[in-house]
Amino acid sequence: MYYFYNVISRSTIQKVNDAADLLDVVGSYIKLKKRGANYLGNCPFHNEKTPSFTVSPSKGIYKCFGCGKAGNVITFVQEHEKLSYPEAITWLAKRYHIEIEETQVSNAEKEQRLIEESLRIINNFATAYFQENLESIEGKVIGMSYFKERGFRKETIDRFQLGYCPEEKTDLGQ
Ligand SMILES: [Zn+2]
Repeated sequence: MYYFYNVISRSTIQKVNDAADLLDVVGSYIKLKKRGANYLGNCPFHNEKTPSFTVSPSKGIYKCFGCGKAGNVITFVQEHEKLSYPEAITWLAKRYHIEIEETQVSNAEKEQRLIEESLRIINNFATAYFQENLESIEGKVIGMSYFKERGFRKETIDRFQLGYCPEEKTDLGQ
């Protein structure tokens, strides 16, 4: 038995992803100071007096070294505004004046999309995790020197969100 639902079209989600600016969104909630290539501020997710919330505009990710919260512009809106994924897309679409197109999908397709969204969340988390590892001592010594040897420039590493998996391979799951 098929049921049909209205969902936000994939092209709208793509447009929102392209337009949404992490620094702009985070900057509307907290004061950020430039620190090298990144921005630093007081974490909006936990109480702190010394800033440990880092935003990387080139990578499009944030990470709090106090409470461990990390993600991209969509997860930030979800967490901060307590919204679901489609609600966060709608919120961002309004902010960036993007018209929302809807498409009709069957219940089976809707199920499939939910799986995709869950995987996307896990994937975003893993990306941020590995990218952050690249900044660690082990990451710099082993990972970064390997990229340099291959002739990868900083922009390439950021653009393709390259990261480093530590020697301890089960690290991510812990
Ligand atoms: Zn925090």
